[in-house]
Amino acid sequence: MTRRISILGATGSIGASTLDLIRRERDQWQVVALTANCQAQELARLAREFGAELAVVADETCLADLREALAGTSVDAAGGAGALVDAASRPADLTVAAIVGCAGLAPVMVAIEQGRTVALANKEALVSAGDVMKAAVARHGTTLLPMDSEHNAIFQCLAGNDLNHVRSITLTASGGPFRDWNLEQLQAATPAQALKHPNWDMGAKISIDSATMFNKGLELIEAYHLFPVGLDKLRIVVHPQSVVHSMVEYRDGSTLAQLGPSDMRVPIASCLAWPERMDTPCDPLDLAAIGSLTFRAPDEALFPATRLCREAIGAGGAAPAVLNAANEVAVAAFLAGQLPFTRIAVVVEQVLARYGPPRPQSLADVLAVDAAARDHARSVVELITQ
Ligand code: NAD
Ligand code: MG
Repeated sequence: MTRRISILGATGSIGASTLDLIRRERDQWQVVALTANCQAQELARLAREFGAELAVVADETCLADLREALAGTSVDAAGGAGALVDAASRPADLTVAAIVGCAGLAPVMVAIEQGRTVALANKEALVSAGDVMKAAVARHGTTLLPMDSEHNAIFQCLAGNDLNHVRSITLTASGGPFRDWNLEQLQAATPAQALKHPNWDMGAKISIDSATMFNKGLELIEAYHLFPVGLDKLRIVVHPQSVVHSMVEYRDGSTLAQLGPSDMRVPIASCLAWPERMDTPCDPLDLAAIGSLTFRAPDEALFPATRLCREAIGAGGAAPAVLNAANEVAVAAFLAGQLPFTRIAVVVEQVLARYGPPRPQSLADVLAVDAAARDHARSVVELITQ
């Protein structure tokens, strides 16, 4: 029996890894909708290869190119925010949410409302709209599978166990490309240096987040929502080899960890096949060749991002959405060469400190908080860089 799958953010790093696995089991999948921001040629190529029903560019100005690239095929082409939401609402057994940033929130919410299975890579959506999204998952009886490697590891380590028996959950962090840098070096870090992740090959935004440690902070917020054991039971440890993807400690002293190669196709395969298992082309884990696994505490004086994220969860309400929006703006400014690396966290901290809207109750509330926090963050960036 074939399963229907849609991939939101099909042209990205997660999209490519997902499609690589689908390509190896073509007879088992029917591709419904593939989406991208623009990248019309790449999206059209994928839609043709996988015989997608629908291809959507979120940026409507790219629709003419997409139409031209799909001329003579049976793939429907559409563009704009409404088309993206339509794509997410087409019946599918599994929707992979792999858009980067809060831009993915509205389509993820629509996919959740279908009441099927959503595999979530788009962590910013959950960070911004945690309570609203979780309420929708419960209301529609949706299965939410965590695709982020740490959360997928925790999900696997929790299987069959009661959350009440959990003593702590530890997220591992590679520490990113700058884990051994000092303040002076960090102040001069360039986008090209920050984009060079030692272990993982990922999109630009998450690569910068890994360098600042905001990625781990966002993942702390993600874990807070996915695994409700309470903030005080969530830990972070730096593990430069990225072999242990996270772990769960139980009250009897047992710690279960999930290990694997640093290849996103492993957690993606876990979501695609869940609750079964499937083959991946990844090299088997060779622990003797790796030799040693090391762990150390994060340095929050040098990398304040995880502290800021913990404070945002503690503050509750709209704080995580504000933090996420400010970080997206600051990362874009850093990538554009406007903002020094160490100022990313400064922008986030300043926006968080001066902006406290009430708890969002709906998707519209979250999107309004996100928009306002972005405006605020842009003005803080301008002040810092003038
Ligand atoms: P990417 O930049 O490689 O791809 C992002 C995708 O989203 C592309 O298809 C792009 O066209 C689309 N997109 C970008 N902006 C958009 C917009 N405004 N509207 C609609 N679509 C838009 O990113 P990625 O590395 O694949 O990451 C995707 C998500 O998965 C992120 O939230 C990231 O944090 C998460 N994630 C990624 C990895 C990884 O290894 N890459 C691991 C864990 C989690
Ligand atoms: Mg991760």
